[in-house]
Amino acid sequence: MTRTWKEMAFGDLPIREDLKSQHAYGAPQLDVPIRLNVNENPYPPSPDLVARIAEAIAAVAKEANRYPDRDFAKLRESLAEYLRHDSGIAIAAKHIWAGNGSNEVLQHILQVFGGPGRTALAFTPAYPMYEEYCRTTFTHLHRVPRNARFEIDFAEAIDAIETVQPSVVFLTSPNNPTGTALSIDTIQAVLDVAPGIVIVDEAYAEFRRDGVPTAVSLLPDNPRLIVSRTLSKAFKFAGGRVGYCACVASIIEAIQLVRLPYHLSVFTQAAACAALAARDELLAQVATLKAERDATVAWLRGIGLRVADSDANFVLFGEFSDRHAIWNALLREGVLIRETGPNGFLRVSIGTASEMDAFRETLQRALAEHR
Ligand SMILES: *Cc1c(COP(=O)(O)O)cnc(C)c1O
Repeated sequence: MTRTWKEMAFGDLPIREDLKSQHAYGAPQLDVPIRLNVNENPYPPSPDLVARIAEAIAAVAKEANRYPDRDFAKLRESLAEYLRHDSGIAIAAKHIWAGNGSNEVLQHILQVFGGPGRTALAFTPAYPMYEEYCRTTFTHLHRVPRNARFEIDFAEAIDAIETVQPSVVFLTSPNNPTGTALSIDTIQAVLDVAPGIVIVDEAYAEFRRDGVPTAVSLLPDNPRLIVSRTLSKAFKFAGGRVGYCACVASIIEAIQLVRLPYHLSVFTQAAACAALAARDELLAQVATLKAERDATVAWLRGIGLRVADSDANFVLFGEFSDRHAIWNALLREGVLIRETGPNGFLRVSIGTASEMDAFRETLQRALAEHR
């Protein structure tokens, strides 16, 4: 006989005051045929790579009675090697930190550089998780709105930083949910006036258009700069949960004060190393996705919508008087996109060619009904 549990309502829990009115972050995970809502790479790993990952995991399973390498030396070297190759900048394993998604890395950074009485600054619309890292670390978040083209107004940014004196500045390039990237001049100007840490979140760096810069080139001259990246988007490894950042070695020493020991399991470390060893294969569809993205931007503009420039694997488009109605009409036909960003806008992640065909068809039907 099983005993029945005494339940307790959420509102009756003795939880922190500031959490009582909060909702858990996360897009709906719905089981529909076409999922274009969380910027995943639509292409799964090849059977060959699946076999290599399984082999790597089996090898470390033999030592699973032991704690993993706390400092994940091999994974850090693999990530450093990739960034060196991608940027041409001398980056060593000591310049790399990683976590269970760049979400964890960014939270580590706020645990070290944020805190009670401190302020972080972000340019909105921004990635909603920044609010959560701040809430978790009791850091005040100061928001500076982007202009009508979703770009950061240079003079306004400098002015806000000089006034607020934030301990941490979040720059996102390309930005989520808008897709817009930042110029090197803007990033350097922010570094010149910011008194604290400047994070450039480059979760979508591999999708940027030709000629669009990455902040990695600024690392050697700017010890307060942290550039974060992830394997979740271009690398089609969202399920593996690995993100990382590059910065001076002393910042990583500081992060080691706040991270939980052994946060990356032997399985995560082994799978990520196997994936990175096959990076050319993992990144093989990035060019296809970029072409599909550019075609999607052009098509949406062609039917008269407002569309943000995109250097990412998603596109923000609008404006709709009732965006929820459009979102719902697509969902009813099995196409899940994201209701996010500024009011009246929707975001679609770039899928395969046939998924994008379905998106275009269902959107046209929805517009005929709801515009
Ligand atoms: C997706 C995303 C991330 C990180 O996701 P992880 O899966 O935790 O690596 C970070 N920043 C932005 C802006 C993102 O869109």
